[in-house]
Amino acid sequence: MSATSTIQKLPPLAQPVTALWGVGGERAAQLARLKIFTVEDLLLHRPRRYEDRRHFRPIKTLLLDEHATTRGSVVAMGLKRFRGGSKSVFELILDDGTARLHCRWWNLPFMENYFAVGDEVVVYGKPLSLKPRTMDHPETEVVEPGEENFIHFNRLTPVYPLTEGLPQRWLRGLIWRTLEKFESQIAEPWSKPSVGRARSDAPYRLPTRANAVHMIHFPEELTDVEIARQRLALDEFIALQWQIQARRKKFEATAQALPCGGNNRLMKPFLDALGFKLTGAQTKVLREIRADLRGAHPMRRLLQGDVGSGKTAVAACAALMALEGGFNVALMAPTEILAEQHFRNFKKWLEPLGVKVELQTRSSKTFNIQHSTSNAQGAEAANHASRITHHASIFIGTHALLTDSFALPNLGLVIIDEQHKFGVAQREQLVRKGRYPHLLVMTATPIPRTLGLTVYGELDLSVIDEIPAGRGTIKTFVRTTEKLPLVWKFMREQLAAGRQAYVVYPRVEETDQREIKAVVKEFENLQKLFAPFRVELLHGRLKSAEKEAVMASFRTNHAQVLLATALIEVGVDVANATVMLIENAERFGLAQLHQLRGRIGRGAHDSFCILVSAADKPEAQERLKVLTESNDGFKIAEADLKLRGPGELLGQQQSGVPDFRFGELATDWELIKQARAVVLEIEKAG
Ligand code: ADP
Ligand code: MG
Repeated sequence: MSATSTIQKLPPLAQPVTALWGVGGERAAQLARLKIFTVEDLLLHRPRRYEDRRHFRPIKTLLLDEHATTRGSVVAMGLKRFRGGSKSVFELILDDGTARLHCRWWNLPFMENYFAVGDEVVVYGKPLSLKPRTMDHPETEVVEPGEENFIHFNRLTPVYPLTEGLPQRWLRGLIWRTLEKFESQIAEPWSKPSVGRARSDAPYRLPTRANAVHMIHFPEELTDVEIARQRLALDEFIALQWQIQARRKKFEATAQALPCGGNNRLMKPFLDALGFKLTGAQTKVLREIRADLRGAHPMRRLLQGDVGSGKTAVAACAALMALEGGFNVALMAPTEILAEQHFRNFKKWLEPLGVKVELQTRSSKTFNIQHSTSNAQGAEAANHASRITHHASIFIGTHALLTDSFALPNLGLVIIDEQHKFGVAQREQLVRKGRYPHLLVMTATPIPRTLGLTVYGELDLSVIDEIPAGRGTIKTFVRTTEKLPLVWKFMREQLAAGRQAYVVYPRVEETDQREIKAVVKEFENLQKLFAPFRVELLHGRLKSAEKEAVMASFRTNHAQVLLATALIEVGVDVANATVMLIENAERFGLAQLHQLRGRIGRGAHDSFCILVSAADKPEAQERLKVLTESNDGFKIAEADLKLRGPGELLGQQQSGVPDFRFGELATDWELIKQARAVVLEIEKAG
């Protein structure tokens, strides 16, 4: 009994489910598979859907392919086995006085054990035929006589996610009884501010948490469910904001900022020689960055700017501030092509100012300042190292910067370009090469505002919301494969007018030899199509030097067409390219397509993005239409978030998408904002 006495010390809702009447070891194990360990977990187990069991659909009125809840009594049932017994179908025939319904289960012979002739059965499913009326694998629940029926019938009835061996009816009964016993113990988690109180200014007249928990399980009306969900989601968002603020406070208490604000010594000549004037938005963002670099705590800033908005120049300015202070800077980019492009730009911009610019990729000639051994290279490295301690340098590279043996002494600022291509862990790995260096992460995948305050909640946000003037427009078209000959004709006209074009081949698995072969075949095809213009091919399997040669050829307009895999999605900057043709566009996410489109429209000429997808995919074409209607990366990212969810948008590498039971990152902007305000209010109140 000693277990019981420890249990009783726990707050009521934190008790394990085994403290509940009727929950033994086996049931507890089943519940654990649903991640239900405590009473609270059980009370927050969210119904999958609700059945309106106040009104059953007469079997006779069921419609083809339309989900409905109906009921009837079992008039016949039987199991048929075939193929030597390895296959089977179990059939149950229900009658409600209006008609009969055949329910079938394939290869689930044990279903036989759950029913008996004469049983009254509730069925949820959709008829796949009306002659006879048939449902395959419907959800069922046997009506058992007894006083518990008021829990299960004549109401909006919750239907829960289950696990093998756990009956719907048992779980519903358990949740009902647990609510009866514990509902009064469900406290308001956030007492001070206006949560839960009726606010005249808000659309959120949210119920108390206890009411919300009741309503999510046993709503009076379906509209109650959404109200309850919002209340419970708000609590989740508040808990998350609370965590974010706490981590931030801890960070600020431990981390001292390096003085990287600069003195304009390098910045001024840099801006004078740049060849263009920074946009208002770039200048505004630089002010925010400078304030951080002069601040008491290391900068943790996310810079968002749509493709082509000029983030690289901003990064260069930030780097200069740190360099002026005598600190080294590291800039990490996700691909070698992009790292090399940055390397070229920064060399051009910064070397005249006496700043050393170094490239560190897997294939670049790396010198390593820790490996100063006896050979000639080592001597040179040591030489470098000594210079570095006197002259601040900028190190540009790929993941290769993360290599353990690669030291970055005196690191003042870490810049991460196209951050969504990296994981949080990689970001931190680079930051840890210094002692609390400042951090600037950049992204062209616009972060929907809901993610800005949640997944990216620990970062301050800056937005470049302006594209430099003097750019041509970008028009976007969706075309079916049949129209390709017309598209090619149009491309040839553009080439004849002196422009260049990208052709993006659908996402290929670059480890798959066959897929590489398919790209090569397309390459030969395009060479014929566009002769005498020159076509180059770029894919991930090429060696770095080969990739660089291809890019150089395209950059210098030696080649006019670049056939590439999605590799060119990030960063590539060739102003004379005005056509972006994307084959099998439906295989890409909207945000990714927007990135690809961002490779054009960088010069003064008008540009054209053509999204090609097969004619037999109307819903794909519908989705692609979003891109023809908007050039606004934020709108597109929000659409993508709704269509594909946060995981897809944040990229595979991004961990740390919070796991909400009730919160919905795609749509809960108002709640997230409110949660943030509530936490700040509580903090202010001390
Ligand atoms: P992104 O934000 O997508 O990384 P880039 O930094 O590659 O964009 O900039 C796109 C192009 O715009 C580059 O060629 C860059 O030199 C140019 N650019 C950046 N800022 C300005 C500006 N203020 N005026 C004119 N051109 C600019
Ligand atoms: Mg960029």
